[in-house]
Amino acid sequence: MVACVKTVITGGAGFIGANLCRTLGSAGIGPLVVLDDLSTGSVDNLVGLDDSVTLAEGSILDPAIVRQVVEDAEAVVHLAARPSVPRSLEDPVATHNANATGTVNVLDAVRRSVRPPYLIVASSSSVYGANPEIPKHEGMAPMPVSPYAASKLATESYALAFGHSFGLDVLAFRFFNVFGPLQAAGHAYAAVIPAFVSAAVAGLPLTVHGDGDQTRDFTFVDSVTSVIADALTRRVTCSTPVNLAFGSRHSLLEVIDLLEGIFGQRLERRHTDPRPGDVRDSQADQSQLLRLFPGVTSVPLDEGLSRTVEWFRGHAEERPSNVLDR
Ligand code: NAD
Repeated sequence: MVACVKTVITGGAGFIGANLCRTLGSAGIGPLVVLDDLSTGSVDNLVGLDDSVTLAEGSILDPAIVRQVVEDAEAVVHLAARPSVPRSLEDPVATHNANATGTVNVLDAVRRSVRPPYLIVASSSSVYGANPEIPKHEGMAPMPVSPYAASKLATESYALAFGHSFGLDVLAFRFFNVFGPLQAAGHAYAAVIPAFVSAAVAGLPLTVHGDGDQTRDFTFVDSVTSVIADALTRRVTCSTPVNLAFGSRHSLLEVIDLLEGIFGQRLERRHTDPRPGDVRDSQADQSQLLRLFPGVTSVPLDEGLSRTVEWFRGHAEERPSNVLDR
């Protein structure tokens, strides 16, 4: 039990953030303050957490509210962002504003605090981009191929630069393809697993961009939030970004096979053109993660998918769609 660590979670009403609130609540870490403009997140994601979480509705693009929320925090987990590759192709400036400028606002508030809080930021495996080497290790040259990827490179670079410049305790995680309960499926930018699962639950064909042999290191959300909880507890820092994924690699067609096993029936697929900005293969080198978090374990893909399907069966009646990278 960790007592009284006021922790701010920017983007805490989103998919990963709201799952993180639950994990931290169970671990006794708090009080928790969620700073979120509810642009892609929702207050519904925080239902059931009423006593342990305070929602500060506002944007990280508003320096005054960021400073106010961060001022007396002991830790900040910065998840707020405008996610998804296709969204960034549609409006690169909005993506830059939220992900780069918004991050600088958060960092500036942190460094101006009387006692600067410990800071974790969320970057993305998309920063590896066109670099074909597999598995992706943190020493590789980043080669972003989308505005989203470039903006996440800015997120982590600013965080580490502020760490060096102002002596802040910072940890920049590169998330890979995170999936699980609470992940939005009913919009045009939904990630691939919620899109598949919601389509399957609705009895609709699964949309596959390209041949479906593209691979990803899919990570169940609880595996991510438990590492973040451990990092907060021990104030783990690192001078370089750290992959937060477990070195697995599965194609979309393999994911569909597993879903067919869970649903106990064949799932119809509809192939469309590959999408610009998507990378072909992704898999994390997890050496650095294991060095910093010895003994960390992950939820296997089949179990994570089963838990995701169970949640969607109970909750999702949304319009399916499909986006691969976040
Ligand atoms: P999400 O869209 O569910 O959550 C993002 C949250 O940020 C939302 O609640 C949204 O309302 C909030 N937000 C957006 N702009 C904001 C602003 N200007 N001010 C305040 N709040 C704002 O997405 P997610 O999947 O939970 O992603 C969380 C973080 O993880 C993001 O930084 C994302 O780039 C990163 N990430 C996610 C994945 C993944 O697979 N889900 C992969 C790599 C990186």
